[in-house]
Amino acid sequence: MNVQPIPTVSERINEIRRLTAEIVNREILPNENMLWADVRGSDRLTDDDRAQSRKLRDEVRAKVRQAGLWAPHLPTEYGGAGLDFLELAYMYEVLAYATGASSLFGVVAPNSGNQSVLVKYASEDQKQKWLLPLIDGELESGFSMTEPDQPGSDPRSLKTTARRDGDEWVINGHKWFTSNGLKADFFIVMCRTEEVEGTADRNAAMTQIIVPADAPGVNVVRGITVWGRPSDHVEIIYDDVRVPLENALGERGSGHQAAQDRLGAGRVYHCMNSLGQMWRAFDLMVERSLTREVHGGPLETKQFVQGMIADSYMDMQAARLMTINCAEKMAAGQDARTDISAIKVFVPAAFHRVVDRAIQVWGAAGVSGDLPLSGMYQGARTLRLADGPDEVHRILMAKNVLAAYRHGEKGWDFGN
Ligand SMILES: Cc1cc2nc3c(=O)[nH]c(=O)nc-3n(C[C@H](O)[C@H](O)[C@H](O)COP(=O)(O)OP(=O)(O)OC[C@H]3O[C@@H](n4cnc5c(N)ncnc54)[C@H](O)[C@@H]3O)c2cc1C
Repeated sequence: MNVQPIPTVSERINEIRRLTAEIVNREILPNENMLWADVRGSDRLTDDDRAQSRKLRDEVRAKVRQAGLWAPHLPTEYGGAGLDFLELAYMYEVLAYATGASSLFGVVAPNSGNQSVLVKYASEDQKQKWLLPLIDGELESGFSMTEPDQPGSDPRSLKTTARRDGDEWVINGHKWFTSNGLKADFFIVMCRTEEVEGTADRNAAMTQIIVPADAPGVNVVRGITVWGRPSDHVEIIYDDVRVPLENALGERGSGHQAAQDRLGAGRVYHCMNSLGQMWRAFDLMVERSLTREVHGGPLETKQFVQGMIADSYMDMQAARLMTINCAEKMAAGQDARTDISAIKVFVPAAFHRVVDRAIQVWGAAGVSGDLPLSGMYQGARTLRLADGPDEVHRILMAKNVLAAYRHGEKGWDFGN
């Protein structure tokens, strides 16, 4: 990955990009297949191969720690690198270039998102009990919000309830697509703790509650098949699950805000993640066009292919500049809600187009497991509906723009 200093960002961001790219280029990309061979579970693997995979991963992790980049999303007092929002966004772009690199830097979803929520909302006791073991890798976790019978795109409609009974919450509900659910030792469950009339208080009706996976009444029904493969995105029934009142995260009624905190910054991170993968797909497409001969000449000389390179260049640049502009506004404390929705729609679609072209240029190899493109393609498609589907964000953008004009502004300030 060709990472050079960016003249307009801080020295610290350039240093983080350089150090991250060094590990990605030297330690991860040359070993990409072997690093994950045991996890992918090829039946041709020997015990030595498996041991070699684990050893390689440990070696990379040690180098990440040496470089001071371990757990970049966590504050230093919790053993992380303590990066700020912009530093982290730029780092995620570089990390996403190589398959699985982020996990070698201690960023593994949904644990990393849960860790950030626990850092912000957990009490000191909750931190000791759940956060520290989660950081140390002694515990695994899931975030359980979406329900099969309610629209995930309108999370305030969720039906799972937590009713207070003495010094316990009693939780009843049906969730699905709770990622990492097969391994999780606990779930952060989005629950309705108030019954509200109308729309006025809908934001204050939800509370996130920590539920141990082995609590009686937690029934993990199945791992849902995703893109034709078994997955750890699970369906769960919470049937009269009792947990102590102190398992609520933050103030009663703060669940919606906690989810917004998670998703707002998360959307920028997801987009930077998509950009890193687009960058890789772009490089792969151009490299292949320089070396593959078809119908009497290299692919690079065919104008159809040149068109794909040019279109992908524009997609990459437009998506990247939009995302960085949005991230800078957020870092400066400006209202970036319209920009967040814009990147949430634009970037996954641009990512999808770039990967699609890269696959086309590679032919059959493009859809094989020898390249990361097919996984990227599925990921890009999924992003168009996860974290708020395209339609919801388009509606939000239009609402914000229309409101600005309606309230007497001279027009939208695109210079901002
Ligand atoms: C791989 C994967 C992992 C996931 N991991 C988690 C997890 O760990 N925890 C968790 O809680 N959830 C998780 N989810 C769930 C995800 O967040 C939801 O799928 C998402 O929020 C959309 O909700 P829904 O599926 O209920 O779609 P719905 O809300 O039913 O929407 C369906 C479709 O309706 C359309 N639509 C919605 N609103 C409007 C509108 N106003 N106007 C026009 N059209 C509209 C959109 O096209 C949308 O795609 C995961 C999903 C996937 C695919």
